[in-house]
Order: sequence, then C-alpha cells, then structure tokens
Amino acid sequence: MQLIPCPWCGPREETEFHYGGQAHVAYPEDPSALTDQEWAQYVFFRDNPSGPFAERWSHSAGCRRWFNAVRDTRTHDLLSVHRIGEPVPDLGEKDEVVS
Ligand SMILES: [Zn+2]
Repeated sequence: MQLIPCPWCGPREETEFHYGGQAHVAYPEDPSALTDQEWAQYVFFRDNPSGPFAERWSHSAGCRRWFNAVRDTRTHDLLSVHRIGEPVPDLGEKDEVVS
C-alpha cells in the first residue's frame, strides 16, 4: 500500500485517492475555432512519458480536494505534491518534469 501525501490532510492510503489525468492541460481560449482534429487532440491525447510526470489527483475519500503531483512513471514514486495554482516544485537534479 502506497501512502500519498495530500497537501491538506497529510499522508493517507492510496485507496482514498483518484487519479485525474495529466496536470496543466489548458482549456482552449476559443474552442469554437478548433478543427475537429484539434478538439480531439485536446480532449483525448495526453503525454505518456517515462519519468517525472505532472498529474492531477483528488483526495476523493478524504477532504475531496484536487491537487497536483509529480509522479515518476517508472517507479510510481510521488516526487512532490502541490496545491492547484502553485508552481511545480523544483525537483533539483531529477529528470525534467513533463506537464
Ligand atoms: Zn485531503
């Protein structure tokens, strides 16, 4: 069982959380101007890196708040968590974060 550190509640068991997909995917400024292919790209296509990846998580069985996390997709280790709106923390010498 992996512990996930909620930015508000502290470490809790992973079963209390839900994955919300890639973080920092901006909604298009003018969605009606997009082609069908551009809209499909926005809705369905996400990065799939091997290494640090910025993701959204919800503490669905706890405080029910959303937050961002950087997870290494090779090891499933959470490298950092931060609240929505906060910048991605500097991870020092670790690999570049895809977000
Ligand atoms: Zn929480």
